[in-house]
Amino acid sequence: MPEHHVVVVGASLAGLRVVQSLRSKGYDGRITLVGDEPHLPYDRPPLSKQFLAGDWERDRFELAPGEMLGGFDVELRLGGRATDLDVAGRVVTLHGGERLSYDDVVVATGASPRQLPDTPDLEGVYTLRTIDDSIAIRDELGKAPRVVVVGAGFIGAEVAATARTKGLDVTILEALPVPLSRGLGPTLGPAVAALHGDHGVTMRLGVGVDGMEGSGRVERVVLSDGSTVDADLVVVGIGVVAETSWLEASGLELRDGVVCDAMCRAVGAPGVWAAGDVARWPNQLFGEEMRLEHWDNAAMQGMAVGASIAASVAGDEPAPFAPVPFVWSEQYDAMIQILGRPHATDRVEVAIGSFEERSFVALLERDGLLSAAVGMNDARRTMRFRNLLRSRPTFEEATALAAELA
Ligand code: FAD
Ligand code: NAP
Repeated sequence: MPEHHVVVVGASLAGLRVVQSLRSKGYDGRITLVGDEPHLPYDRPPLSKQFLAGDWERDRFELAPGEMLGGFDVELRLGGRATDLDVAGRVVTLHGGERLSYDDVVVATGASPRQLPDTPDLEGVYTLRTIDDSIAIRDELGKAPRVVVVGAGFIGAEVAATARTKGLDVTILEALPVPLSRGLGPTLGPAVAALHGDHGVTMRLGVGVDGMEGSGRVERVVLSDGSTVDADLVVVGIGVVAETSWLEASGLELRDGVVCDAMCRAVGAPGVWAAGDVARWPNQLFGEEMRLEHWDNAAMQGMAVGASIAASVAGDEPAPFAPVPFVWSEQYDAMIQILGRPHATDRVEVAIGSFEERSFVALLERDGLLSAAVGMNDARRTMRFRNLLRSRPTFEEATALAAELA
């Protein structure tokens, strides 16, 4: 009988964790890891923080140096894109025509930055997703530009903090009237965004971007109210789209991600799994379908999928993936943690500290339950809510823990 073959498409955090987990669970068949970037897997969080600031060298955030990958006995196909998935025939086709037959395939192709529509192709305008993007922006930051950041999401906030910490003139443009409000809601969004005011960033809220002008290179951003903001460097951080473009002809159910069951198996497609930013699955702990775009989820989901494939190869049942979501962000010297699943309409109670002190733990309530805990500069106490969230506690149980910790 031919050796079992797992093909993992996407050689970044989720894909690598699948490989690691397969081997750590004793899977001894073939593994091929396919990635379209020419680099060995590396970590993305430093790209908007320490690496962008010039404080860290590249070797500090390799996810798997060559010798480690060698130890996993994995066949690498880097610098080449998967272009097609034949679900019935169980074949992945690569750019250039190579065809990889598989028994199980994992889609771990992450997400790609959304682009601003109808903007001219000007130098000095970037999105940030890859190490090459970060190197290009870092080089630009060294020329002391006036920086404009479009979008007050995670990229916008972190790039603004890094640029401002270097003493640069920074403006953030956000289409919504309240910063970070979609994820964190109208109370917490401004509390987190206030950090940027403290550090001298200009925030222009409730105003869209109509275009950019310049001759060859960007010189100004034109806003929807007709005004302009001068810019030498523009970083656009207006969200991402799940990277499923290569799967369009596959017949997989795609809905802003690969639609999976609770075990992260693509629905109706035997042998196809998904992990990381690209996966949409029902998280049974929260009774909610999720597609998460954060590090901890990509790592944990990759591990879970690797373990589930190893289990099914051994004839065992895979387990549901039902984590407490966890996100962190570093902006200036502030550390922010978000545990659980905040919705913009959740009721917010600051249980420890205060927004004014820039040190707090806020608890969010939805339908009588704790939906999330959000902390700034209080990691020790914020992280205590991770375990509690695993039991889906009532809001009263959460405030009781906060009272104990206060
Ligand atoms: P990705 O890391 O996007 O990797 C997918 C890989 O698949 C890529 O290498 C891509 O090139 C490749 N690929 C795509 N299509 C194909 C194809 N057809 N064939 C072959 N390969 C393909 N999260 C946090 O929680 N905290 C942070 O502080 C934080 N900071 C971040 C900073 C930046 C600048 C960025 C961009 C992200 C940050 N994140 C952070 C988010 C976190 O990095 C992502 O959630 C994580 O990288 C997702 O991992 P992934 O493996 O699912 O996808
Ligand atoms: P994001 O966090 O989803 O934020 C995008 C922001 O841009 C939102 O505030 C969005 O507002 C706004 N926006 C959308 N269209 C706009 C427009 N036309 N003009 C102005 N603003 C607009 O995405 P991101 O900041 O681009 O980050 C990219 C990815 O990297 C995400 O997956 C993110 O999770 C990840 N990342 C994570 C971290 C972290 O976890 N610390 C750090 C960096 C990056 P609306 O809500 O109205 O759409």
